[in-house]
Amino acid sequence: MTERTLILVKPDGVERGLTGEILRRVEAKGYRIAALQQFSATTEQLAQHYAEHEGKPFYQPLVDFMLSGPVVAAVLEGERVIEGFRSLAGTTEPTTAAPGTIRGDLGRDWGEKVQKNLVHGSDSVESAEREIGIWFG
Ligand code: GDP
Ligand code: MG
Repeated sequence: MTERTLILVKPDGVERGLTGEILRRVEAKGYRIAALQQFSATTEQLAQHYAEHEGKPFYQPLVDFMLSGPVVAAVLEGERVIEGFRSLAGTTEPTTAAPGTIRGDLGRDWGEKVQKNLVHGSDSVESAEREIGIWFG
């Protein structure tokens, strides 16, 4: 039942100094941080990471945003951590994400700025293993 997931603190979270607050919530929930590193993402890494979104209208703005500043990547471990972190993160749009979630408490962007939603979390066991490979080799 123990899983691993790949999370990112996106450039808006790093720039706003929210990395500690986000990791605090992860640790308070009881997940273990198994790896942690700040990166300046490359276009190649992001093309792999966001391959499922290639061709969508928000793809290029999303990649450009992810290149706009450093990101912090972490591998989390715990029981049902994939689903659990996505629950901590909240739904995609910060304006309407539930209070109590990372996006709902700390973000308020929407529309064409919805890419500024502070965090990424893998959405399945398969994407978690693929994304851990992209960021941590
Ligand atoms: P997530 O799993 O909640 O992160 O959302 P998705 O996998 O659907 O989308 C990946 C990321 O693309 C989101 O976290 C947002 O940063 C961004 N995104 C998703 N939908 C839109 C959109 O309609 N417009 C823009 N500008 N960005 C979007
Ligand atoms: Mg997603």
